[in-house]
Amino acid sequence: MKVLHTIAALREYRATLSGRVALVPTMGALHAGHVALMEMAGGHGSHVGVTIFVNPTQFGPREDFHKYPRPIEADLDKCERAGVDFVFNPSVEEMYPVNPHAERIHGPHGDFVKPGFRSQIEMPLSERHPHNIVIDLPSLTNVLEGVKRPGHFKGVCQVVAKLFNVCTPHAACFGQKDYQQLRVISAMVEALNWPIEIVECPTVREPDGLAMSSRNQYLSPEDRRRALSIVRALRAAEEELRNGFRQTIRLVTTAQRILLEQHLQIDYVATVDPHTFTPVPEVNGPTLMAIAARVGITRLIDNVVLRA
Ligand code: AMP
Repeated sequence: MKVLHTIAALREYRATLSGRVALVPTMGALHAGHVALMEMAGGHGSHVGVTIFVNPTQFGPREDFHKYPRPIEADLDKCERAGVDFVFNPSVEEMYPVNPHAERIHGPHGDFVKPGFRSQIEMPLSERHPHNIVIDLPSLTNVLEGVKRPGHFKGVCQVVAKLFNVCTPHAACFGQKDYQQLRVISAMVEALNWPIEIVECPTVREPDGLAMSSRNQYLSPEDRRRALSIVRALRAAEEELRNGFRQTIRLVTTAQRILLEQHLQIDYVATVDPHTFTPVPEVNGPTLMAIAARVGITRLIDNVVLRA
């Protein structure tokens, strides 16, 4: 397995690959959900690549960018065991170079930017170097996660676009766990005519139903138990639908009650069209029920597609 840290090295390696390349973009702290994506990628390409990059531009100022887990050795080991061909693990400066006009100082270990210049990652997106393009799909990003995490999807689209351009995959795999992200990326690829197949991977869960997430490791045993109310809420909504209740207000109320019993702080419980994200009053076709809630200081998301 090849591990590459720079865009130049990746491009050089990529040029040696013939056949289809399937990519799995991740932020690392890999778990069985990510491994399932790698396995699915194996079915869509003769070479599988994984990117491991904690992307600062998709985190809000009060989010967990600095404390996000980065167990790179264990991650590489999991990629190797999953039969991955290459891992792209760039630094933040490699992906977001500092202002090219900033004054550079020659040091014993190479050039560095004169102190006093803010690095691009410390600046709000709007102030960054104009070459740091922003891609926005407002109709899909002004709802749900986009409301609770302003700028999040601009950061996601920015980094995924750059990763697609440097890795030039034929296919890329994304999890339904982050349903809105999957939909935004599919729409971006379609709108920009990228010849990349977006492959959807079902949510992988712990045996007790908790959706796997790199953030689950923040949970204390007690919070983890309370977090199970999220999947219970989704399953209760499915059960009510099976019992003939199609009004989403009823399904949402049931889900909210289960979350509140465990004192979760609800960001949203929404029932929307899975393609357009417009609210759905009654389940008559596939309907996305999406939940975002905080358990203590840990924010978790999960969803299910309800089918009438
Ligand atoms: P992340 O590293 O959390 O940014 O996730 C990288 C990719 O893995 C995204 O496409 C996620 O949707 C996907 N993913 C994360 N958790 C799961 C899960 N439990 N099941 C399936 N895919 C997942």
